[in-house]
Amino acid sequence: MSEVHRTVATPDKLGVEMIGIPAGSDVDLDLRLESVSEGILVTGTACGETAGQCSRCLEPIDGTVTVFLTELFAYPDSVTEQTTEEDDVHRIVDDRIDLEQSIIDAVALELPMSPLCSPDCPGLCQVCGIRLAVAEPGHAHELIDPRWAGLANKFSELAEEDKADEDKPGDQERRD
Ligand SMILES: [Zn+2]
Ligand SMILES: [Zn+2]
Repeated sequence: MSEVHRTVATPDKLGVEMIGIPAGSDVDLDLRLESVSEGILVTGTACGETAGQCSRCLEPIDGTVTVFLTELFAYPDSVTEQTTEEDDVHRIVDDRIDLEQSIIDAVALELPMSPLCSPDCPGLCQVCGIRLAVAEPGHAHELIDPRWAGLANKFSELAEEDKADEDKPGDQERRD
């Protein structure tokens, strides 16, 4: 058995669209290589620092990601090599194992498709695009969606009745 501790720079971004380990960044590998009857069993971790964007408010976010790897690389001419597809079990080629695709896949699986800056990120105002996390409390606009205008009219009529001293029946604005 041997252990490998190595830091490599990833040539391409690892991850998903909105978050990942940027190209050129370090990936720390902490691996155990064990010789088993059919090949080399690789177990361990790969970890790196991530950069991305909150999927709700688009603020930059960073963090770290660690993935656990368990991969068998079959010896040439082993039974495993002869009875499995290359897509299912890795091969040792020219005495080398290539973990790159395993790491690419594992990191993409580990990272969220919709990363958040905080679990309760309120996102952006649908109308003006301000980050609601930094907007004044109760940030809102007077716009009324035409689909809700009827309901809004109903409420304003009720409010009118309550007040009774205002006289603007049916004075509704529709804006798109
Ligand atoms: Zn956010
Ligand atoms: Zn707004």
